[in-house]
Amino acid sequence: MDTFMYYNPTRLYFGKDTMEHLGTQIPPIGRKILLVYGGGSIKKNGVYDEVMRRLNGFDAHVHELSGVEPNPRLTTVQRGIDLCRKEGIDFILAVGGGSVIDCAKAIAIGAKFKGDVWDIITRKATAEEALPLGTVLTLAATGSEMNSGSVITNWETQEKYGWSSPLVFPKFSILNPEFTYTVPKDQTVYGIVDIMSHVIEQYFNHTGNTPVQDGFCETILRTVIATAPKLLENLKQYEHRETILYCGTMALNGTLAMGIRGDWATHNIEHAVSAVYDIPHGGGLAILFPNWMEHVLDEGVSRFKQFAVNVFGIDPQGKSDRETALEGIRALRSFWSSIGAPSRLADYGINAEKLELMADKAMARGVFGHFKSLDREDVLAIYRKSL
Ligand code: NAP
Ligand code: FE
Repeated sequence: MDTFMYYNPTRLYFGKDTMEHLGTQIPPIGRKILLVYGGGSIKKNGVYDEVMRRLNGFDAHVHELSGVEPNPRLTTVQRGIDLCRKEGIDFILAVGGGSVIDCAKAIAIGAKFKGDVWDIITRKATAEEALPLGTVLTLAATGSEMNSGSVITNWETQEKYGWSSPLVFPKFSILNPEFTYTVPKDQTVYGIVDIMSHVIEQYFNHTGNTPVQDGFCETILRTVIATAPKLLENLKQYEHRETILYCGTMALNGTLAMGIRGDWATHNIEHAVSAVYDIPHGGGLAILFPNWMEHVLDEGVSRFKQFAVNVFGIDPQGKSDRETALEGIRALRSFWSSIGAPSRLADYGINAEKLELMADKAMARGVFGHFKSLDREDVLAIYRKSL
Protein backbone atom coordinates (compact mmCIF):
# COMPACT_ATOMS: atom_id res chain seq x y z
CA MET A 1 0.00 0.00 0.00
CA ASP A 2 1.02 3.60 -0.45
CA THR A 3 1.16 5.98 2.50
CA PHE A 4 -2.16 7.76 2.81
CA MET A 5 -4.24 10.29 4.70
CA TYR A 6 -7.99 9.83 4.76
CA TYR A 7 -10.40 12.67 5.41
CA ASN A 8 -14.10 12.86 4.68
CA PRO A 9 -16.21 15.31 6.67
CA THR A 10 -19.52 14.84 4.78
CA ARG A 11 -22.40 13.79 7.02
CA LEU A 12 -24.46 11.24 5.10
CA TYR A 13 -28.19 10.68 5.67
CA PHE A 14 -29.27 7.62 3.72
CA GLY A 15 -32.74 6.11 3.41
CA LYS A 16 -36.42 7.03 3.57
CA ASP A 17 -37.57 9.98 5.66
CA THR A 18 -34.16 11.62 5.75
CA MET A 19 -35.30 14.97 4.33
CA GLU A 20 -36.19 16.18 7.83
CA HIS A 21 -32.46 16.74 8.39
CA LEU A 22 -32.56 19.82 6.19
CA GLY A 23 -34.22 21.42 9.19
CA THR A 24 -31.52 20.29 11.62
CA GLN A 25 -28.42 20.76 9.48
CA ILE A 26 -28.91 24.10 7.73
CA PRO A 27 -30.11 26.55 10.45
CA PRO A 28 -26.91 26.44 12.55
CA ILE A 29 -24.92 27.35 9.41
CA GLY A 30 -27.08 29.85 7.54
CA ARG A 31 -30.52 31.07 6.53
CA LYS A 32 -29.87 32.92 3.28
CA ILE A 33 -29.92 29.98 0.97
CA LEU A 34 -29.14 29.56 -2.70
CA LEU A 35 -31.16 26.59 -3.96
CA VAL A 36 -29.41 25.16 -7.04
CA TYR A 37 -31.18 22.72 -9.36
CA GLY A 38 -31.35 21.53 -12.94
CA GLY A 39 -33.82 21.55 -15.79
CA GLY A 40 -36.93 20.82 -13.77
CA SER A 41 -36.99 17.09 -12.89
CA ILE A 42 -37.32 18.02 -9.20
CA LYS A 43 -40.48 20.02 -9.95
CA LYS A 44 -42.09 17.06 -11.73
CA ASN A 45 -41.31 14.42 -9.10
CA GLY A 46 -42.22 16.40 -5.99
CA VAL A 47 -38.71 16.74 -4.55
CA TYR A 48 -38.77 20.53 -4.99
CA ASP A 49 -42.01 20.84 -3.01
CA GLU A 50 -40.66 18.69 -0.22
CA VAL A 51 -37.44 20.71 -0.03
CA MET A 52 -39.36 23.99 0.06
CA ARG A 53 -41.67 22.70 2.77
CA ARG A 54 -38.64 21.89 4.94
CA LEU A 55 -36.94 25.22 4.22
CA ASN A 56 -40.11 27.15 5.02
CA GLY A 57 -40.22 25.27 8.31
CA PHE A 58 -37.28 27.27 9.66
CA ASP A 59 -37.81 30.64 8.12
CA ALA A 60 -35.16 30.42 5.43
CA HIS A 61 -34.72 33.11 2.78
CA VAL A 62 -34.44 31.17 -0.44
CA HIS A 63 -33.02 32.38 -3.75
CA GLU A 64 -33.01 30.02 -6.71
CA LEU A 65 -30.58 29.15 -9.46
CA SER A 66 -32.31 26.76 -11.85
CA GLY A 67 -31.43 25.37 -15.25
CA VAL A 68 -28.05 23.85 -14.40
CA GLU A 69 -27.30 21.83 -17.51
CA PRO A 70 -25.97 18.24 -17.64
CA ASN A 71 -22.20 18.83 -18.05
CA PRO A 72 -22.59 22.08 -16.09
CA ARG A 73 -21.23 25.19 -17.69
CA LEU A 74 -18.95 27.95 -16.45
CA THR A 75 -21.53 30.57 -17.46
CA THR A 76 -24.04 29.00 -15.04
CA VAL A 77 -21.42 28.88 -12.30
CA GLN A 78 -20.83 32.59 -12.85
CA ARG A 79 -24.56 33.34 -12.64
CA GLY A 80 -24.61 31.54 -9.29
CA ILE A 81 -21.56 33.43 -8.01
CA ASP A 82 -23.19 36.75 -8.93
CA LEU A 83 -26.38 35.74 -7.10
CA CYS A 84 -24.45 34.74 -3.97
CA ARG A 85 -22.67 38.09 -3.84
CA LYS A 86 -25.74 40.16 -4.62
CA GLU A 87 -27.98 38.41 -2.08
CA GLY A 88 -25.40 37.77 0.65
CA ILE A 89 -25.96 34.01 0.49
CA ASP A 90 -24.57 32.04 3.40
CA PHE A 91 -25.49 28.47 2.43
CA ILE A 92 -25.86 26.63 -0.90
CA LEU A 93 -28.26 23.71 -1.25
CA ALA A 94 -27.81 21.59 -4.38
CA VAL A 95 -30.80 19.41 -5.29
CA GLY A 96 -30.17 17.11 -8.25
CA GLY A 97 -27.60 14.88 -9.89
CA GLY A 98 -23.84 15.25 -10.19
CA SER A 99 -24.09 18.20 -12.55
CA VAL A 100 -26.09 20.28 -10.07
CA ILE A 101 -23.77 19.35 -7.20
CA ASP A 102 -20.60 20.03 -9.21
CA CYS A 103 -21.99 23.41 -10.27
CA ALA A 104 -22.85 24.24 -6.64
CA LYS A 105 -19.32 23.37 -5.55
CA ALA A 106 -17.84 25.75 -8.12
CA ILE A 107 -20.26 28.48 -7.06
CA ALA A 108 -19.36 27.88 -3.39
CA ILE A 109 -15.66 28.36 -4.02
CA GLY A 110 -16.06 31.10 -6.63
CA ALA A 111 -18.28 33.24 -4.42
CA LYS A 112 -15.48 33.63 -1.88
CA PHE A 113 -12.67 33.99 -4.43
CA LYS A 114 -11.57 37.42 -5.59
CA GLY A 115 -10.17 36.27 -8.92
CA ASP A 116 -11.66 34.26 -11.80
CA VAL A 117 -13.17 30.93 -10.74
CA TRP A 118 -11.88 29.34 -13.99
CA ASP A 119 -8.35 29.71 -12.55
CA ILE A 120 -9.37 27.42 -9.70
CA ILE A 121 -10.95 24.90 -12.07
CA THR A 122 -7.82 24.88 -14.24
CA ARG A 123 -5.67 24.56 -11.11
CA LYS A 124 -3.85 27.85 -11.71
CA ALA A 125 -5.07 29.25 -8.40
CA THR A 126 -6.08 27.79 -5.05
CA ALA A 127 -8.83 29.10 -2.85
CA GLU A 128 -8.67 29.84 0.86
CA GLU A 129 -12.36 29.58 1.68
CA ALA A 130 -15.74 28.58 0.28
CA LEU A 131 -19.39 28.97 1.15
CA PRO A 132 -20.76 25.88 2.92
CA LEU A 133 -22.98 23.59 0.85
CA GLY A 134 -25.29 20.63 1.34
CA THR A 135 -26.94 18.30 -1.15
CA VAL A 136 -30.10 16.34 -1.80
CA LEU A 137 -29.07 13.74 -4.38
CA THR A 138 -31.55 12.59 -7.05
CA LEU A 139 -29.38 10.43 -9.31
CA ALA A 140 -26.91 7.64 -8.48
CA ALA A 141 -23.74 8.16 -10.49
CA THR A 142 -20.94 10.54 -9.64
CA GLY A 143 -20.26 10.25 -5.93
CA SER A 144 -20.09 14.05 -5.89
CA GLU A 145 -22.45 13.98 -2.89
CA MET A 146 -19.61 12.71 -0.68
CA ASN A 147 -16.41 13.88 -2.31
CA SER A 148 -14.47 17.07 -2.93
CA GLY A 149 -14.48 16.85 -6.74
CA SER A 150 -16.35 18.76 -9.42
CA VAL A 151 -16.28 18.82 -13.22
CA ILE A 152 -17.06 22.04 -15.10
CA THR A 153 -17.27 22.78 -18.83
CA ASN A 154 -16.19 26.01 -20.46
CA TRP A 155 -18.36 25.76 -23.55
CA GLU A 156 -16.76 28.76 -25.25
CA THR A 157 -13.30 27.20 -25.24
CA GLN A 158 -14.63 23.60 -25.35
CA GLU A 159 -12.75 22.59 -22.22
CA LYS A 160 -14.07 20.28 -19.52
CA TYR A 161 -11.97 19.82 -16.39
CA GLY A 162 -12.20 18.07 -13.07
CA TRP A 163 -10.89 19.94 -10.04
CA SER A 164 -11.12 19.35 -6.32
CA SER A 165 -10.74 21.13 -3.02
CA PRO A 166 -11.36 19.92 0.53
CA LEU A 167 -13.29 23.18 1.00
CA VAL A 168 -16.19 21.85 -1.10
CA PHE A 169 -16.95 18.57 0.63
CA PRO A 170 -20.70 18.87 1.25
CA LYS A 171 -21.47 19.52 4.93
CA PHE A 172 -24.22 16.91 4.56
CA SER A 173 -25.91 14.90 1.85
CA ILE A 174 -29.41 13.46 1.89
CA LEU A 175 -29.84 10.26 -0.11
CA ASN A 176 -33.33 8.83 -0.36
CA PRO A 177 -33.51 6.02 -2.94
CA GLU A 178 -37.14 7.02 -3.63
CA PHE A 179 -35.91 10.32 -5.09
CA THR A 180 -34.19 8.32 -7.83
CA TYR A 181 -37.36 6.45 -8.92
CA THR A 182 -38.04 8.93 -11.73
CA VAL A 183 -34.55 8.83 -13.25
CA PRO A 184 -35.27 7.62 -16.80
CA LYS A 185 -33.82 4.37 -18.11
CA ASP A 186 -31.03 5.95 -20.18
CA GLN A 187 -29.81 8.14 -17.30
CA THR A 188 -30.02 5.16 -14.94
CA VAL A 189 -27.75 3.24 -17.33
CA TYR A 190 -25.28 6.15 -17.63
CA GLY A 191 -25.16 6.33 -13.84
CA ILE A 192 -24.47 2.61 -13.56
CA VAL A 193 -21.64 2.88 -16.09
CA ASP A 194 -20.16 5.89 -14.25
CA ILE A 195 -20.26 4.06 -10.91
CA MET A 196 -18.54 0.99 -12.37
CA SER A 197 -16.02 3.24 -14.13
CA HIS A 198 -15.07 4.96 -10.88
CA VAL A 199 -14.36 1.57 -9.34
CA ILE A 200 -12.44 0.35 -12.38
CA GLU A 201 -10.30 3.52 -12.51
CA GLN A 202 -9.14 2.72 -8.98
CA TYR A 203 -8.92 -1.07 -9.38
CA PHE A 204 -6.33 -0.78 -12.14
CA ASN A 205 -3.27 0.22 -10.17
CA HIS A 206 0.23 -1.18 -9.70
CA THR A 207 0.41 -0.56 -5.96
CA GLY A 208 0.62 -4.13 -4.67
CA ASN A 209 -0.60 -5.66 -1.40
CA THR A 210 -4.10 -4.21 -1.59
CA PRO A 211 -6.27 -7.27 -0.92
CA VAL A 212 -8.93 -5.34 0.97
CA GLN A 213 -9.12 -2.53 -1.58
CA ASP A 214 -9.35 -5.12 -4.37
CA GLY A 215 -12.12 -6.94 -2.55
CA PHE A 216 -14.10 -3.74 -1.98
CA CYS A 217 -13.85 -2.95 -5.70
CA GLU A 218 -14.79 -6.46 -6.80
CA THR A 219 -17.76 -6.58 -4.42
CA ILE A 220 -19.14 -3.27 -5.70
CA LEU A 221 -18.69 -4.32 -9.33
CA ARG A 222 -20.30 -7.75 -8.82
CA THR A 223 -23.16 -6.13 -6.92
CA VAL A 224 -23.84 -3.57 -9.63
CA ILE A 225 -23.65 -6.25 -12.33
CA ALA A 226 -26.17 -8.41 -10.44
CA THR A 227 -28.50 -5.53 -9.58
CA ALA A 228 -28.58 -3.42 -12.75
CA PRO A 229 -30.63 -5.77 -14.99
CA LYS A 230 -33.24 -6.23 -12.23
CA LEU A 231 -33.47 -2.49 -11.63
CA LEU A 232 -33.85 -1.76 -15.33
CA GLU A 233 -36.84 -4.11 -15.46
CA ASN A 234 -38.58 -2.09 -12.78
CA LEU A 235 -37.21 1.39 -12.19
CA LYS A 236 -39.30 1.91 -9.04
CA GLN A 237 -37.96 -1.06 -7.08
CA TYR A 238 -36.79 0.31 -3.73
CA GLU A 239 -34.14 -2.31 -2.88
CA HIS A 240 -32.44 -2.09 -6.27
CA ARG A 241 -32.44 1.72 -6.29
CA GLU A 242 -31.06 1.60 -2.74
CA THR A 243 -28.25 -0.77 -3.68
CA ILE A 244 -27.18 1.25 -6.72
CA LEU A 245 -27.35 4.53 -4.79
CA TYR A 246 -25.13 3.13 -2.03
CA CYS A 247 -22.68 1.70 -4.59
CA GLY A 248 -22.47 5.11 -6.28
CA THR A 249 -21.44 6.86 -3.08
CA MET A 250 -19.00 4.16 -1.99
CA ALA A 251 -17.36 4.09 -5.42
CA LEU A 252 -16.04 7.62 -5.11
CA ASN A 253 -16.02 8.85 -1.54
CA GLY A 254 -12.35 8.10 -0.95
CA THR A 255 -12.83 4.64 0.58
CA LEU A 256 -11.49 2.74 -2.42
CA ALA A 257 -8.63 5.18 -2.90
CA MET A 258 -7.04 4.55 0.50
CA GLY A 259 -3.47 3.41 -0.04
CA ILE A 260 -3.70 3.16 -3.82
CA ARG A 261 -3.22 5.42 -6.79
CA GLY A 262 -5.98 5.03 -9.37
CA ASP A 263 -5.47 5.42 -13.11
CA TRP A 264 -8.12 8.01 -14.13
CA ALA A 265 -6.99 8.23 -17.76
CA THR A 266 -10.35 7.17 -19.20
CA HIS A 267 -12.19 9.92 -17.31
CA ASN A 268 -9.76 12.41 -18.79
CA ILE A 269 -10.22 11.20 -22.36
CA GLU A 270 -14.00 11.12 -21.86
CA HIS A 271 -14.04 14.70 -20.61
CA ALA A 272 -12.35 15.74 -23.85
CA VAL A 273 -15.12 14.03 -25.84
CA SER A 274 -17.95 15.61 -23.88
CA ALA A 275 -16.20 19.02 -23.98
CA VAL A 276 -16.42 18.93 -27.77
CA TYR A 277 -19.68 17.01 -28.31
CA ASP A 278 -21.63 17.48 -25.03
CA ILE A 279 -22.49 13.77 -24.72
CA PRO A 280 -23.51 12.12 -21.41
CA HIS A 281 -20.47 11.27 -19.30
CA GLY A 282 -21.56 7.67 -18.64
CA GLY A 283 -22.27 7.07 -22.32
CA GLY A 284 -18.77 8.24 -23.24
CA LEU A 285 -17.19 6.02 -20.59
CA ALA A 286 -19.06 2.93 -21.82
CA ILE A 287 -17.57 3.48 -25.28
CA LEU A 288 -14.03 4.33 -24.21
CA PHE A 289 -13.29 2.05 -21.25
CA PRO A 290 -13.12 -1.35 -23.00
CA ASN A 291 -10.87 0.21 -25.66
CA TRP A 292 -8.61 1.72 -23.00
CA MET A 293 -8.43 -1.74 -21.42
CA GLU A 294 -7.33 -3.43 -24.63
CA HIS A 295 -4.81 -0.66 -25.22
CA VAL A 296 -3.14 -0.98 -21.81
CA LEU A 297 -3.59 -4.73 -21.25
CA ASP A 298 0.09 -5.57 -21.50
CA GLU A 299 0.93 -3.19 -18.66
CA GLY A 300 -0.55 -5.67 -16.23
CA VAL A 301 -2.07 -8.86 -17.62
CA SER A 302 -2.37 -10.40 -14.16
CA ARG A 303 -4.58 -7.52 -12.95
CA PHE A 304 -6.85 -7.97 -15.94
CA LYS A 305 -6.98 -11.70 -15.29
CA GLN A 306 -7.98 -11.02 -11.68
CA PHE A 307 -10.69 -8.68 -12.96
CA ALA A 308 -12.01 -11.35 -15.35
CA VAL A 309 -12.06 -14.10 -12.74
CA ASN A 310 -13.20 -12.20 -9.65
CA VAL A 311 -15.68 -9.80 -11.25
CA PHE A 312 -17.12 -11.74 -14.17
CA GLY A 313 -16.48 -15.29 -12.94
CA ILE A 314 -14.47 -16.26 -16.05
CA ASP A 315 -12.98 -19.75 -15.71
CA PRO A 316 -9.20 -19.48 -16.29
CA GLN A 317 -8.69 -23.26 -16.69
CA GLY A 318 -6.86 -24.23 -19.88
CA LYS A 319 -6.40 -20.59 -20.99
CA SER A 320 -3.41 -18.32 -21.04
CA ASP A 321 -3.57 -15.37 -18.66
CA ARG A 322 -3.93 -13.06 -21.64
CA GLU A 323 -6.88 -15.03 -23.03
CA THR A 324 -8.63 -14.91 -19.67
CA ALA A 325 -7.90 -11.18 -19.42
CA LEU A 326 -9.34 -10.53 -22.89
CA GLU A 327 -12.43 -12.53 -21.99
CA GLY A 328 -12.95 -10.23 -19.00
CA ILE A 329 -12.80 -7.16 -21.22
CA ARG A 330 -15.29 -8.76 -23.63
CA ALA A 331 -17.57 -9.57 -20.68
CA LEU A 332 -17.55 -5.93 -19.57
CA ARG A 333 -18.31 -4.73 -23.08
CA SER A 334 -21.18 -7.15 -23.50
CA PHE A 335 -22.59 -6.39 -20.04
CA TRP A 336 -22.75 -2.70 -20.84
CA SER A 337 -24.33 -3.42 -24.23
CA SER A 338 -26.85 -5.72 -22.57
CA ILE A 339 -28.11 -2.89 -20.36
CA GLY A 340 -28.38 -0.52 -23.32
CA ALA A 341 -25.19 1.54 -23.03
CA PRO A 342 -23.61 2.80 -26.26
CA SER A 343 -20.50 1.05 -27.58
CA ARG A 344 -19.24 3.26 -30.40
CA LEU A 345 -18.66 7.00 -30.80
CA ALA A 346 -20.78 6.62 -33.95
CA ASP A 347 -23.74 5.97 -31.61
CA TYR A 348 -23.52 9.72 -30.86
CA GLY A 349 -22.86 10.64 -34.49
CA ILE A 350 -19.16 11.23 -33.75
CA ASN A 351 -16.80 10.47 -36.64
CA ALA A 352 -13.06 10.97 -37.20
CA GLU A 353 -13.43 14.68 -37.99
CA LYS A 354 -12.47 16.08 -34.56
CA LEU A 355 -10.28 13.32 -33.14
CA GLU A 356 -7.17 15.52 -33.27
CA LEU A 357 -9.00 18.34 -31.50
CA MET A 358 -10.23 15.96 -28.79
CA ALA A 359 -6.70 14.59 -28.35
CA ASP A 360 -5.41 18.16 -27.93
CA LYS A 361 -8.04 18.77 -25.25
CA ALA A 362 -7.16 15.53 -23.46
CA MET A 363 -3.45 16.41 -23.50
CA ALA A 364 -3.94 20.03 -22.35
CA ARG A 365 -2.70 19.27 -18.85
CA GLY A 366 0.14 16.96 -19.99
CA VAL A 367 0.52 13.17 -19.94
CA PHE A 368 -1.84 11.33 -17.62
CA GLY A 369 -2.79 7.88 -16.35
CA HIS A 370 -1.06 5.97 -13.58
CA PHE A 371 -1.65 2.35 -14.68
CA LYS A 372 -0.21 3.42 -18.00
CA SER A 373 0.88 6.96 -18.75
CA LEU A 374 -0.80 8.00 -22.01
CA ASP A 375 0.65 10.34 -24.58
CA ARG A 376 -1.13 11.89 -27.56
CA GLU A 377 -0.59 8.84 -29.78
CA ASP A 378 -2.12 6.55 -27.14
CA VAL A 379 -5.14 8.83 -26.84
CA LEU A 380 -5.63 8.95 -30.60
CA ALA A 381 -5.33 5.16 -30.81
CA ILE A 382 -8.06 4.74 -28.17
CA TYR A 383 -10.32 7.26 -29.93
CA ARG A 384 -9.82 5.51 -33.28
CA LYS A 385 -10.67 2.12 -31.78
CA SER A 386 -13.80 3.72 -30.32
CA LEU A 387 -15.17 5.14 -33.58
P1 NAP B 1 -26.70 14.88 -14.34
O1 NAP B 1 -26.01 15.54 -15.49
O2 NAP B 1 -26.65 15.54 -13.02
O3 NAP B 1 -28.23 14.62 -14.71
C1 NAP B 1 -28.55 14.00 -15.94
C2 NAP B 1 -30.03 14.15 -16.23
O4 NAP B 1 -30.80 13.41 -15.28
C3 NAP B 1 -30.54 15.59 -16.16
O5 NAP B 1 -31.26 15.83 -17.33
C4 NAP B 1 -31.44 15.63 -14.93
O6 NAP B 1 -32.58 16.45 -15.11
C5 NAP B 1 -31.90 14.19 -14.85
N1 NAP B 1 -32.27 13.79 -13.49
C6 NAP B 1 -31.55 13.87 -12.35
N2 NAP B 1 -32.24 13.36 -11.31
C7 NAP B 1 -33.45 12.97 -11.80
C8 NAP B 1 -34.59 12.37 -11.22
N3 NAP B 1 -34.64 12.02 -9.93
N4 NAP B 1 -35.67 12.13 -12.04
C9 NAP B 1 -35.63 12.44 -13.36
N5 NAP B 1 -34.57 12.99 -13.96
C10 NAP B 1 -33.47 13.24 -13.19
O7 NAP B 1 -26.10 13.41 -14.24
P2 NAP B 1 -24.90 12.83 -13.39
O8 NAP B 1 -24.49 11.62 -14.12
O9 NAP B 1 -25.24 12.72 -11.97
O10 NAP B 1 -23.76 13.95 -13.53
C11 NAP B 1 -22.94 14.04 -14.66
C12 NAP B 1 -21.87 15.08 -14.46
O11 NAP B 1 -21.05 14.78 -13.32
C13 NAP B 1 -20.93 15.17 -15.64
O12 NAP B 1 -20.58 16.50 -15.91
C14 NAP B 1 -19.71 14.40 -15.15
O13 NAP B 1 -18.52 14.76 -15.84
C15 NAP B 1 -19.68 14.77 -13.71
N6 NAP B 1 -18.94 13.86 -12.81
C16 NAP B 1 -18.58 14.32 -11.58
C17 NAP B 1 -17.89 13.54 -10.68
C18 NAP B 1 -17.49 14.07 -9.33
O14 NAP B 1 -16.87 13.39 -8.54
N7 NAP B 1 -17.83 15.31 -9.00
C19 NAP B 1 -17.57 12.22 -11.02
C20 NAP B 1 -17.95 11.74 -12.26
C21 NAP B 1 -18.65 12.56 -13.13
P3 NAP B 1 -32.75 17.88 -14.40
O15 NAP B 1 -31.65 18.73 -14.91
O16 NAP B 1 -34.10 18.31 -14.89
O17 NAP B 1 -32.72 17.68 -12.92
FE1 FE C 1 -17.37 9.83 -13.61
